[in-house]
Amino acid sequence: MKRYSAFAIAREAFRQHTGWKQAWASPEPRAHYDVVIVGAGGHGLATAYYLGHRYGIKNVAVIEKGWLGGGNTGRNTTIIRSNYLQDPSAALYEKSRSLFETLSQQLNYNIMFSPRGVMMLAQTEHEKRGYLRTERANALQGVETRFISPAEVKKLVPIINLDGPRYPVLGALWQARGGTARHDAVAWGFARACSDMGMHIIEQCAVTGVDSEGGQVTAVNTTKGRITCGKLGIVVAGHSGALADMAGFRLPVESVALQALVSEPIKPCMDVVVMANTVHGYMSQSDKGEMVIGGGADGFNNYTQRGSWHHIEETVRALVETFPMISRLKMLRQWGGIVDMTGDRSPIISKTPLGNCFINCGWGTGGFKATPGSGYAMAELIAKGEPGPLAEAFSMTRFREGRFIDESVAAGVAH
Ligand SMILES: Cc1cc2nc3c(=O)[nH]c(=O)nc-3n(C[C@H](O)[C@H](O)[C@H](O)COP(=O)(O)OP(=O)(O)OC[C@H]3O[C@@H](n4cnc5c(N)ncnc54)[C@H](O)[C@@H]3O)c2cc1C
Repeated sequence: MKRYSAFAIAREAFRQHTGWKQAWASPEPRAHYDVVIVGAGGHGLATAYYLGHRYGIKNVAVIEKGWLGGGNTGRNTTIIRSNYLQDPSAALYEKSRSLFETLSQQLNYNIMFSPRGVMMLAQTEHEKRGYLRTERANALQGVETRFISPAEVKKLVPIINLDGPRYPVLGALWQARGGTARHDAVAWGFARACSDMGMHIIEQCAVTGVDSEGGQVTAVNTTKGRITCGKLGIVVAGHSGALADMAGFRLPVESVALQALVSEPIKPCMDVVVMANTVHGYMSQSDKGEMVIGGGADGFNNYTQRGSWHHIEETVRALVETFPMISRLKMLRQWGGIVDMTGDRSPIISKTPLGNCFINCGWGTGGFKATPGSGYAMAELIAKGEPGPLAEAFSMTRFREGRFIDESVAAGVAH
């Protein structure tokens, strides 16, 4: 792999940038791999990366029906935080957040991690009590958060209106080392590192069937032919139900479209991420100057992967009371991604009824922030055949056993 550095940029500048190599190869699939991962989103690629990096398993294919990072990984609003309530979630999301801190250096790829700070506004007494509770839980979990006053909120976000007629700002849960990262760079960085280890990333190749024998997966059928494998990892977010169906088991997940939109670019006016969960909206400003605005999920199951008019109206109407300045902004574009929701709003990183098949899904509206941590935990599960400490609470059997990890407050609209 050609290393990226200031020196490399300078050298290429002198030779008209003719020396750059393709960041990842586009090989034809082999007949067999030790591990096949379905889904080249951030989580699938991170899983492959840590399989190679931590366990030396490099005969790996990541199979993607579209282009890598073209699913939710390239459609999210890039928020990273770890201020969850339950211990297993805090451990997993904080591991992930901490991996983000050094991911650019580790991958030699600038993922533009920007720990600019994330605040979740408390706009009702009930919400305030909830966040005070989370602040204390986070203190016990070793996650640095702080409940801040309305005056501190105003200092950090001068454009905010604290005295909305319906929902005044009563304070906020503040995580100073939360922030954002460039979402597709995360996928591209992992892909480049995987390709460098000799792994195959096979794009434009849909998995259409899963063959099994005696309770073990033997092969996947794809639009580029049949591929046999020693182990199978399913990491396809909103399409997890469809893949599980191919493998012959059922998952407790529902698929819905989650939408977001961006405004026209404006001068820098807000350098933190703000979530307003009571009114159902959140906002940050991108490096280009666009206000990145996220709203809720569709109220019905679907696979449409696009935006709809009423969401723009609902989301902007909800936010305008807290941010009056957005009433004068033109909205540039909107989109949707298909997210996979579990009943307790926590993910699944789990063994399945098939001995050598493992599933990673259920990240719902908030899995981008978990990308490296999820890959780290999933790689351990695939390599050892058993979950490690980060993944063990997230088994798919927890729904049958009543061991929910209830994060409906932390993960509701707050991605
Ligand atoms: C609008 C929106 C905003 C969001 N905002 C945030 C946020 O701010 N912060 C946050 O933490 N999270 C956020 N999320 C959630 C986050 O994007 C996801 O949880 C995360 O990206 C999931 O990553 P993934 O790699 O599992 O899935 P994906 O990136 O969706 O990857 C799955 C891949 O599997 C492929 N695939 C599916 N079926 C097949 C098949 N049969 N064969 C081969 N390949 C297949 C798909 O094409 C896709 O590329 C948001 C999501 C959306 C839609």
